[in-house]
Amino acid sequence: MPPSIQRMKTLFCRAIVAFAACMPLPAMAAPTLLRPAQVFDGVDATAHPGWQVLVDGDRIVAVGTNLPVPAGAKVIDLPGATLMPGMIEGHGHLFLHPYNETPWDDQVLHEPLALRTARAVAQARATLLAGFTTERDLGTEGAGFADVGLRDAIAQAIVPGPRMLVATRAIVARGAYGPKGFEPGVPIPQGAEEVSGIDEIVRAVRGQIAAGADVVKLYADYHYQRGEPSRPTLTLAEMTAAVAAAHDAGRPVAVHAVTAEGMRRAIAAGVDTIEHGDEGTPELFRAMHDKGIAYCATLAASDAIARYRGWNGQGTPPAAVTEAVHAFHLAMTAGTPLCMGGDVGVFAHGTNAREMEQMQAAGLPPAQVLIAATSGNARFFGLRDKLGSVKPGLLADLIAVAGDPTRDAAAVRHVVMVMKGGTVITAPRD
Ligand SMILES: [Zn+2]
Repeated sequence: MPPSIQRMKTLFCRAIVAFAACMPLPAMAAPTLLRPAQVFDGVDATAHPGWQVLVDGDRIVAVGTNLPVPAGAKVIDLPGATLMPGMIEGHGHLFLHPYNETPWDDQVLHEPLALRTARAVAQARATLLAGFTTERDLGTEGAGFADVGLRDAIAQAIVPGPRMLVATRAIVARGAYGPKGFEPGVPIPQGAEEVSGIDEIVRAVRGQIAAGADVVKLYADYHYQRGEPSRPTLTLAEMTAAVAAAHDAGRPVAVHAVTAEGMRRAIAAGVDTIEHGDEGTPELFRAMHDKGIAYCATLAASDAIARYRGWNGQGTPPAAVTEAVHAFHLAMTAGTPLCMGGDVGVFAHGTNAREMEQMQAAGLPPAQVLIAATSGNARFFGLRDKLGSVKPGLLADLIAVAGDPTRDAAAVRHVVMVMKGGTVITAPRD
C-alpha cells in the first residue's frame, strides 16, 4: 500500500475514533429485575403468581420464578401489582379530542394544524402513561399526514408516546364524509381523502403509503347527510382494488363499516379488520371468523356519544348503545377475533381502558379482554414477534397495575409502572 494511502487511512481511522468519542454513549443500563405479585403474560387466561421478569437493554431476557439477581441489576419491587404486556390501543385518533369539548366539525374546520399537533403530542403522552405502549391510529381526521411526523418523533424519543401505526388521511367515497352543510360546490376541508372510482382509490392508497401510512383505512359506509342512516359508499370493486394495492405494499386494511352491506363488501374485499360493525349479523360475524378478520367494536365510542347527547348511563340505554352491544354479543358467539379498540379521541386519550370496561360489561371475561388488548391486537396488527406478550426475546414494553386485572379489567386504570423498550417511563418511588 503506498505510504500516502496508509497515512490517509490512519487519519481517517483517527477521525472515526474521535467522532465515536464525541457521540453520546447509550446509557449502559444495568439489567432490571421486575418483581410483581404476579404476571399476566398476554396469552394465558390465568396470571402466574410469583413470576419475575428480567429486562436487559430493550428486551425481555428471562421470565419465571426465583430468577437470580444479576450483578449490578436494578430491582423494582411491585408488591400487590400485576405485571403485564404494555397494552395496544386498536383504534385511536390522537388528532381528535372529545366531541363534548369541541364538535368534530369544528375540530376539522377551525383548529389550526399546529394546535392539533401540539394537542396530539400531549395526548400521546397521556396514552403512554395510561399503560398503552402501542396505538393503531386510524386517521388524522383532516390533519393531513401529521400522524407520520408524530409517529417518527415518538420513535426518535423527541416526545413521549406509544409506538404508533398510522393511517394518515383515511379514504372515503367522494361526497360521503364531512364536514357538511355549506354552499354546494364550495370546497370545504374534509375529514379524509375523497375518491371516486378504482383509479382514484388505488392512487390514494399508494399516495398515503408513500407518505408514510402503516395501515390503510377505508370507509365502507357513511351517512350522506346529517340525520340520514349510514349507507354503503365504496363499491366492492373499489374496495377490492384498494385492498390489493395495500396488500401488495405490505399494508393491512382497516375498514369503518356500520351497515351489513358495508361489512359484506369489506369481508368480500379481503380486509384485515372491521371497525364498529353495529349492524353485523350472525352470518357476517361468522364470515369474519372464517376469514380471520378481526372486529374492533368501539363500544366506548357508542357509549360516549350517547352520553354527549344526554344519556346519564342509567336506565334503558339509547338504541345506538344497545345495537353496539348486541353486535358485540353476536361476534363473541361467532368466535370472531376480537380487537380492543375504542375509537379513543371521541373520548379522552388516556382513558383508553373505557373500551376494556365496556367489553367486560358486555360479557367478555376479563382475561379475554386483556388478551384482546395485548397478544390479540399484536397478532391482528402483525406485531406478534415483537410485542403483546411477556416472553424472552420480545421488546420490554411492560406495565404494572395495582390488583388483578384478570379478575376485573378495570384494574388497568391503576397503572403503577410503565416501561417502554426497556426504559422506565414511570415507576413506584423507591
Ligand atoms: Zn375512528
